[in-house]
Amino acid sequence: MVGTLHIIGGGMAGLAAAVDVAGTGTRVIVHEAGRSCGGRARSYHDRHLDCRIDNGNHLLLSANSTVFRYLGITGALDTLSGPGQPIFPFVDLAEDARWTLDLSRGRLPLWVFQPHRRVPDMRLPELQSLYRLIRAKGQATVADCLLPGAFTRRLLEPFSISALNTLSDTGSAALLGAVVRESLSLGGHACIPWFARDGLSETLVDPAVAYLNTMNAEVRTQSRIIGLDVAKGRVTALHTAQDSIALAEHDKVIVAVTAPVAETLLSPHMAGLMTPNAFESILNLHFRLADAPHPTGSFAQCGFMGVIGGVTEWVFLRGNILSVTVSAANRYAKHDHEELARTIWQELRSACDATLEQPLPETPDAQRIVWEKRATFAATPEQNRRRPGSATPLVNLALAGDWTNTGLPATLEGAMRSGIHAVQALGLKTPS
Ligand SMILES: Cc1cc2nc3c(=O)[nH]c(=O)nc-3n(C[C@H](O)[C@H](O)[C@H](O)COP(=O)(O)OP(=O)(O)OC[C@H]3O[C@@H](n4cnc5c(N)ncnc54)[C@H](O)[C@@H]3O)c2cc1C
Repeated sequence: MVGTLHIIGGGMAGLAAAVDVAGTGTRVIVHEAGRSCGGRARSYHDRHLDCRIDNGNHLLLSANSTVFRYLGITGALDTLSGPGQPIFPFVDLAEDARWTLDLSRGRLPLWVFQPHRRVPDMRLPELQSLYRLIRAKGQATVADCLLPGAFTRRLLEPFSISALNTLSDTGSAALLGAVVRESLSLGGHACIPWFARDGLSETLVDPAVAYLNTMNAEVRTQSRIIGLDVAKGRVTALHTAQDSIALAEHDKVIVAVTAPVAETLLSPHMAGLMTPNAFESILNLHFRLADAPHPTGSFAQCGFMGVIGGVTEWVFLRGNILSVTVSAANRYAKHDHEELARTIWQELRSACDATLEQPLPETPDAQRIVWEKRATFAATPEQNRRRPGSATPLVNLALAGDWTNTGLPATLEGAMRSGIHAVQALGLKTPS
């Protein structure tokens, strides 16, 4: 009964599936089209900046249990960095205000009663927005659930745009509600922020590939699957440009590629397959400085800061690199890149100078814009309905990827959970 599990795609969904199955007796082969694994969560050497950067800053919350389990198995927990407490420094550029959101650890939201810990100017009745989000269903958008006020403008809006990568007026309230249920509503212990200390690959990819090697699982990079053969309701062969791989009776396949690639590979064999077809971009701007800035206060403690009232949404500091993230960035697609970079740099000077021992220079040493054009599916109610489950009509094939129906928006947690769901759909491991 022991066959081979072929996983097509070495992003977080594919790697999570591989790590789950490796060592259980089933042979595992990951086929990754790129030179290395990681997909939309990867690091690389940028020639212009002459340093290693991530394709985009990624923030994790302690609530992301599947990611933490994966990091535990792959031995990468100590590659994370963060304040170790549920704190988030913020600056509001439009209203010239600074604060550190300091959530109480337990389920009881004691922080809302302590003005120095909560969002300045928030009113307690605004907390109803959270209740509305948690109960939201179907067509409701985030904007339908948010009550006007400082809590919305200074916390829920930025939280929503980052979690959904979609603006609130079109973003699915049900998807954001799922995130709230798994984080804020559990208390601060579920909201401790973490990020990859040295790089996404160093945390999410390299340790996993090393682990898979020790488990005798095979990771084939530069191995793009261009087609599948199907006969009698099962996949019988995989094709690369050079090779064909025949599948034996007990062999199984997880397709863990992006939604458009999955649709191309599978629509000839799965009539009516529907996948998300609208996407949102994420803009990351990396600024290299001659000298590493020395932050103070909660910016120093966290290594990142939320920014409101400008284009910039989050700024991360790693050594002499300041990186800015802007989500739901389709709205800036037509902007001139140089102009956008100048605006963001001026915002950084306003946001950071008060928290640095020395102010930032008038211009950075060098900069690099990274647009991930199809960073995630647009997390609207319509797109959410287009997400297929992991099981398919083909008995030995399952789907994975952040775009499958995980109940979560497109995040690392959603992607990894989809990998585990695909393993379960193939009956390879019983749910733990
Ligand atoms: C800039 C940016 C910032 C983000 N920030 C956050 C964040 O802060 N927190 C968070 O939780 N999430 C964040 N995300 C989302 C997160 O990165 C994704 O949800 C996750 O990485 C998706 O993983 P995946 O495996 O589903 O897809 P992918 O990463 O797209 O993996 C698919 C893989 O399949 C490979 N492939 C494609 N075609 C083939 C083929 N024919 N044959 C073989 N292989 C193939 C690809 O090369 C790729 O490696 C961010 C994403 C981006 C882009």
